[in-house]
Amino acid sequence: MSITDALIHDLPKTDLHLHLDGSLRLSTLITLAQKYNISLPSYTEEGLKNTVFKEVYSNLGEYLSGFQYTCAVMQDEASLHQIAYELAIDNIAEGVRYIEVRFAPQLHTAKGLSIDQVFLAVHRGLKQAQEEFEESDAVRIHNQPPFRYGIIACALRMFTADTIGWYGQFLQHFQHPDLKHIFGQASLELVRNTTRCRDQYNLPIVGLDLAGQEDGYPAKHHKYAFNHAVKHFLNRTVHAGEAYGPESIMDAVTIVHADRIGHGYHLFSPERCGEEIVDKEAFTRRIIDYIANHRITIEVCISSNLQTNPAIGEAKNHHFGKMLEEELSATICTDNRLVSNTTVSKEIRLAVDAFHMTPKQLRNILIYGFKRSFFPGSYKVKRRYVRSIIDHSTKVFAKHGIVF
Ligand SMILES: [Zn+2]
Repeated sequence: MSITDALIHDLPKTDLHLHLDGSLRLSTLITLAQKYNISLPSYTEEGLKNTVFKEVYSNLGEYLSGFQYTCAVMQDEASLHQIAYELAIDNIAEGVRYIEVRFAPQLHTAKGLSIDQVFLAVHRGLKQAQEEFEESDAVRIHNQPPFRYGIIACALRMFTADTIGWYGQFLQHFQHPDLKHIFGQASLELVRNTTRCRDQYNLPIVGLDLAGQEDGYPAKHHKYAFNHAVKHFLNRTVHAGEAYGPESIMDAVTIVHADRIGHGYHLFSPERCGEEIVDKEAFTRRIIDYIANHRITIEVCISSNLQTNPAIGEAKNHHFGKMLEEELSATICTDNRLVSNTTVSKEIRLAVDAFHMTPKQLRNILIYGFKRSFFPGSYKVKRRYVRSIIDHSTKVFAKHGIVF
């Protein structure tokens, strides 16, 4: 009944928390940087792994430093297409059958691309990979479930005048003593344009995310943007409980109507509640039950959390164990394949070993990923797709000697 690497490879998997700009192939970053004369600390894979994309980071700042290089090469349609295509191909190769790719389109407009062009270029890259896989022997002869994807637009909790693309310009052109209004307004315009692009081009844009510095920049500043998302049937996921306490998760769920939570690590950190919360333990307990009852899914990124929060130490200290104990709906994700030096299979291996997961727990966690996805398409189509995934998973487990 052991969970082997071969079993993990063969099982259909998802990645619902996957940043495009953190998940390039290193070889592609180097090639594109040379093509566009972008300065890198090194032009070899080994050199970049020693200087920027490390195994271990000392803090969040070091972790984030790589994004300046990746974003710099993602400013034209051909690069975005290639990077999205390769990301899908790499996922398909390790048995991932559904991904939701997120990015802030505003950060890819520095050389004049419109938001429309950014969405379309990424969509075309992902679609090409999907269509190629559809024609492969794996699907046509071996009846493997097809590959599907959705796109999530990221609003940013805050930005500065130096931020790449029109975010920076927005801040240069509009002045206000209270910047939160400008951050909120930028998110509102982003989501308006996101739903317009979805409808105008019939794109599989399925969600709105809120990313960026959590501490000091609460989700409530972006409530108009998220209300727009609710009214226009765009799903919501929010990075929360990554660098701030349970109240941030509470805000994400109750003020900006999050369907899923990115990270959610500090859901189990009552000591991180603010002073106004008198009974911190009781407050935290209630949020855990609320999340569990409403089946709000947590997108768990173990390697990323260990890298940005070295105080956690090792994987077995990660709160994913508590999420399993509480029977929360959680799904294992990579966050950033390049920056976190990981894959879906690696993250699953890490979780299985650290928490001694049973095959049944693994099966449930993998199925949550498909069930709680923002699948583009009707509910009936999604149900059929998930059913085919469950049937295929059962066969794969049986092939590896595990029958439930
Ligand atoms: Zn993230």
